[in-house]
Amino acid sequence: MTDPVWDVVVVGAGPAGCSAAASIGRCDPSARVLVVDRADFPRDKACGDGIASEAADLLAELGFDVGSVFAGAPPVCRLALRSPAGIEVNRQMRQPVHVVPREILDERLVADIRRRGIEVRRHEVRTVAVDGRGPVVLDGSLRARFVIGADGAESVVRRALGVPAAAKGRVALAIRGYAPELADQDGAQVIVMTQRHWPAYAWSFPLGDGRANIGYGELIGPGPLRRTDMLTRMAALLPGLDSHPDRLRAHRLPLSSGRPAIRAGQVLLVGDAQSLINPFTGEGIFYAVASGALAGQAAAEALRSGLDAGTAYRRLTRERLGRHFLHTSALARLGRWPGLIDAGMRAARADQRVFDDLVHFGLADGKLTGQIIRNLRFS
Ligand SMILES: Cc1cc2nc3c(=O)[nH]c(=O)nc-3n(C[C@H](O)[C@H](O)[C@H](O)COP(=O)(O)OP(=O)(O)OC[C@H]3O[C@@H](n4cnc5c(N)ncnc54)[C@H](O)[C@@H]3O)c2cc1C
Repeated sequence: MTDPVWDVVVVGAGPAGCSAAASIGRCDPSARVLVVDRADFPRDKACGDGIASEAADLLAELGFDVGSVFAGAPPVCRLALRSPAGIEVNRQMRQPVHVVPREILDERLVADIRRRGIEVRRHEVRTVAVDGRGPVVLDGSLRARFVIGADGAESVVRRALGVPAAAKGRVALAIRGYAPELADQDGAQVIVMTQRHWPAYAWSFPLGDGRANIGYGELIGPGPLRRTDMLTRMAALLPGLDSHPDRLRAHRLPLSSGRPAIRAGQVLLVGDAQSLINPFTGEGIFYAVASGALAGQAAAEALRSGLDAGTAYRRLTRERLGRHFLHTSALARLGRWPGLIDAGMRAARADQRVFDDLVHFGLADGKLTGQIIRNLRFS
């Protein structure tokens, strides 16, 4: 039996896809929504597993039971940073983060939307045909009035739209694994930056059971970036790290400094598929949830009004995240000079409010506040 025409097909059931599906369901409970993913859940995903409190707030707004989603992951309240020049800051965060392995997090998000009656089906999308007059056709048989491409950094939907992949200099590569917490970590989230291969840093994010998600990420430049180089650099930045971390996996991070313009039409891109990763911190889950929520809202508006979904998504994104993206793009250019990051770290060490503003800027939708700019210390 062939499927009917779905109102919306969401491709990808990571945080962006689940948020998009939940958002449509909340804006238009009668919409017929199908989510497809090439994987069965639970499935692993290379990630630092750190989830900002602002992402948790958005998930709660979308109706996710955040208590259950974070169950077993104690809040992480301190952040210990070392800047490229070695300036150290160790402070309490205004709101805690949670570290939940993606194998667990994503399965819980999928279970949550399934409980709401949204169908999640295993299906790998290979082709997307859009003629602008009728439904979008996936793989010759799956038809939808709107498609939300939430299929991650190597998005097939993005490629089908003719949107080029993120260019060198606008994409990072990161490797992560699991290992015992560092000797002096003390339950804090640890980020150690390095001048030598800047922009690059290593991290250790505690899981709450004595183990940590550890990793290293670096901007992809003109030269090769080999796995062995990344592991050597990670070990140099995280002294005392267990020499045999489990489940090492690398993945690309398309940065928001290279995000494509949002196009009009029936197909919307969200999360990593839309290159929404913070160029300073590698944070992408907040953006995935936020963009999923906005695209779901835009699709629901378009179903109701008959107006263009892509145009609505562009407007909603500009209203919600436009200023933040302007500030991150400006700082991404200036931040190629590590001295600026050192100046920010000195200011954060001297003043809790600067630290709070910088965390909000790096993990969610904060701006470059007057507090940050006035307090930058260049020596
Ligand atoms: C090493 C590393 C560390 C990171 N650390 C953090 C961190 O600590 N905190 C943070 O906020 N962000 C972090 N990020 C970024 C974060 O992982 C991503 O931004 C986030 O996963 C994006 O979510 P998404 O839903 O857009 O894509 P994904 O999570 O990649 O989900 C995409 C889904 O689409 C499915 N899919 C792909 N292709 C198809 C297809 N053709 N057909 C059907 N389904 C398909 C996949 O199976 C997958 O389930 C990190 C990234 C990396 C690589």
